[in-house]
Amino acid sequence: MDILTKLTLRFFLIVTPIFILFTITIYTLSAEYRQEEFFDRLEKRAVTTARLLLAVEEVNKDLLRIIDKNSIPALPQEEIFVFDREDVPVYTSVESPTRDFDRTILLRIRKEKQVRWAEGSVECLGLLYEQGPEAFVTIAAAYDRYGRNKLRNLRMILISGLIVGSGIIVLAGRWFASQALQPLAAMNAQVSRITAGNLEERIDEGNRKDEIARLAMNFNQMLQRLSTAFQMQREFVSNASHELRTPLAVMRSQLQVILEKERSGQAYREVLESLLDDTDSFTQLTNGLLILAQSGVPDQYQHFSRLRVDELLFSAQEELAARRPDYLFRFSYDHLPDYEDALLVNGNEQLLQTAFTNLMDNGCKFSADHSVNISLSSGQGYLEIRFTDQGIGIPASEIGHIFTPFYRARNVRNSFQGHGIGLSLCQQIVSLHHGHISVDSRPGQGTSFTVRFPLATDGPGLP
Ligand code: ADP
Repeated sequence: MDILTKLTLRFFLIVTPIFILFTITIYTLSAEYRQEEFFDRLEKRAVTTARLLLAVEEVNKDLLRIIDKNSIPALPQEEIFVFDREDVPVYTSVESPTRDFDRTILLRIRKEKQVRWAEGSVECLGLLYEQGPEAFVTIAAAYDRYGRNKLRNLRMILISGLIVGSGIIVLAGRWFASQALQPLAAMNAQVSRITAGNLEERIDEGNRKDEIARLAMNFNQMLQRLSTAFQMQREFVSNASHELRTPLAVMRSQLQVILEKERSGQAYREVLESLLDDTDSFTQLTNGLLILAQSGVPDQYQHFSRLRVDELLFSAQEELAARRPDYLFRFSYDHLPDYEDALLVNGNEQLLQTAFTNLMDNGCKFSADHSVNISLSSGQGYLEIRFTDQGIGIPASEIGHIFTPFYRARNVRNSFQGHGIGLSLCQQIVSLHHGHISVDSRPGQGTSFTVRFPLATDGPGLP
């Protein structure tokens, strides 16, 4: 069921009972009022008849009967009775009355002075009429044709009103709901025009105040985030393919040159060694790209365990030293407590080692003496590792960009090898471990990267 139908139905279900209740109340009050009014008229008739019969000496039963029958206020099927003290009828307005009354009701009238009741559709009123020491019971009974006809008419009007009114309620509810949903329908039409190709489009934010406007604003903000993410992804893919294409092109031209003519064994060997180097760098790049692409995936948490950071640093150093025997590593431990727990973090061994290798590699690569200082310290609930070098440093204007994938500072672009993904990789890995990485650098003097991780807790493998 669509929202328009649902809202119309709800509107109908809320308004119709109120309408029905209102109709029933009008009818009930009118019916009560009719009866009340009719009893008043019966009372007047009963009193007039009793007074004429008992107080006016000139009026006898026969004359009174003629008066009763012909008087204007006479009521349909009217019958008036007067009973004396002994409950003997002393007067009846018609010669052969259609009803009679038992003693109980006469007794009740004497006791309560006035009693009103209905016998089928005929209303009866009995009252005690006192004439000196005598007390007569007068009963007037009649059928309220006029009042009942009026009431029947009213009932017909109300029922027709209810049927027509219900139809109007449905139409009004539908109009009301469609008016309320109109901005949503307009928004829907605008949203359906937005595709991956035109993420720059925005939907109308209306008055920027009501709920629908807020929904439109939130939607536009989401579009903004999506379009930024798309843009970043596009840039990433184009940068990555560029980075992959360059070493491939170099390798291809090397092969072309060597294959141009017959070469000596030594020449082949040199080219193959150079190709091996290129393949290593290529593998490193593709591994890095793979980790970057996967580091946001929660699956990584499955490989988390409690790890000793000092051991990870030594493994990273060993791996790097095997590749670059000319690199120099100096370790120092500041403020390290004696107990082993102060060196434990929850993490993924391979990822952490990759991050540490990158930071050590950068330190050595960008400094003339190819050395890096690695210091380890721990504080309240955290562990800090600092990688310091005395290398070329990072220009102040570029320090804000170095964590962007593929970004390389001006001072390294032409003189140092690299792809510019190492630091963005480090940042992703550190944030995956709920850590923090910061940089401090002075051009010409050196650079220092500080990585901080929360210490491992006793819980499961997650940080
Ligand atoms: P790559 O080392 O492959 O160039 P990274 O992502 O590791 O890429 O680093 C990005 C950039 O940050 C580097 O190109 C360089 O400009 C700068 N950088 C990183 N580490 C250092 C460092 N220790 N000293 C000076 N510059 C650095």
